[in-house]
Amino acid sequence: MPIKKILSGVVVLLLLACGFLYCQKHRTITVPVLMYHKFGSAGSDVWTMDLKEFRRDLASFSAQGYKTILPKDLAANKKWGRPLPSKPMIITMDDGHIGVTNAEVLLKEYGYKAIVYLITDMTASNDAARFSWNGAPCLIWDEVKAIESRGVLSFGGHSASHANLASLADPSEEIRRCFNDLRRNLGHKPDSFCYPFNQYNPRVVAAMTGSRFTTGMAGSDTVAVISAADDMFKIARVSVFGGDKSFRLSKVSEGVKPEKVLLHYKGPPMDVSVRIKADGFFLRMQFRKLAGDGAELLDTDLPAGIKELEVEVWDKHGIIHHYSGCLKLEASEIVK
Ligand SMILES: [Zn+2]
Repeated sequence: MPIKKILSGVVVLLLLACGFLYCQKHRTITVPVLMYHKFGSAGSDVWTMDLKEFRRDLASFSAQGYKTILPKDLAANKKWGRPLPSKPMIITMDDGHIGVTNAEVLLKEYGYKAIVYLITDMTASNDAARFSWNGAPCLIWDEVKAIESRGVLSFGGHSASHANLASLADPSEEIRRCFNDLRRNLGHKPDSFCYPFNQYNPRVVAAMTGSRFTTGMAGSDTVAVISAADDMFKIARVSVFGGDKSFRLSKVSEGVKPEKVLLHYKGPPMDVSVRIKADGFFLRMQFRKLAGDGAELLDTDLPAGIKELEVEVWDKHGIIHHYSGCLKLEASEIVK
C-alpha cells in the first residue's frame, strides 16, 4: 500500500477520534448523584438507610441499567472527553460513619462503587480517640485506608470541621485544610468535595475553583445536569431518605362506583411519583407529597372491566423504587 494512502488513513482516524472526544467533552451530562448518610437499622432516623432497603435500591438500579461512576470520572469526561457509560450514576455517602462498611459489602455484590465524604476533624488517628457525628461513630484513618484499598469505596472531603462554608468570610481555609488532611492520611490527592449542609454561594464556588478539588457536591434534590465547567462545583444531588417506610393499598369503600383507591403511607415526608397500571397496562403517572402518616386518594378513573390495579411508588425522579402493590377488583364491580 502506498505510504500516502496509509498516512491519509491515519489522519482520518485521528480526526474522527478528536471529533469523538470533542463531542464527549462538550455534551451535556445528566447524572443522578444520590446522597446517602448512615447505614444500619433505620427506625425513625431519616438519615439512616436500612440495609435491606439499600439492597433493594441497588437491585433496582441494576435492573434499570445504571452503572456507577465516581466524581473523578465526571471530571475526566469534562476535561478530556473520556467516555462515560450510557446510564451513569454516582452514589455518595456523607459524614464518614463507620456503617458505610455495611453498605460496602452490598455494593460489591452488585459491582458498584461509591464515594464517602469525610469530615477530616472528625476522622481520628486511633480507636481510643474515635469521634461520633450525628449519633453514630465515625471512621478512623486506618479504617479509611483499609477500606479504600479494597476498591469499592473512595473518599472525598466534607470540609475540616463541617462548618457552613456559605457563612464564612473566607471558606478557602476549611477547603485547603480538608484537602491537606486527606492527602496526608490517604497518601494521595483527593479530587472531590461535598459542601456541609449542602450550602454554597459564589464565594464558596470561587474558593473551590481555586482549590485542587475538581468536583463539588451540593444538595437541591435534583438530578445533576452538567454543561459548563462551573457546574462541576455545583453538582446537584438527589436526597435518599432512610427511616422505616410502609405502604398499603385499600379501596375507599366496597361496592361504591366508581372505584376509589387509597395509598396509605407511614414514614418520613417524601415527594413521590405514583405509576398506576390496570390489568398490566400503564394508566397514568401522578406526583404526590406524602406527609408522613396518612392516606392519599389516587386518581384511578378506571376503565370498565378492570380486574386488577397495580400501583408502584417511586421517588419524584423515577429512580428509587419504594413500593409495588396490587389490588384485586371484581370485574362485576366495575360499572362506569
Ligand atoms: Zn454532613
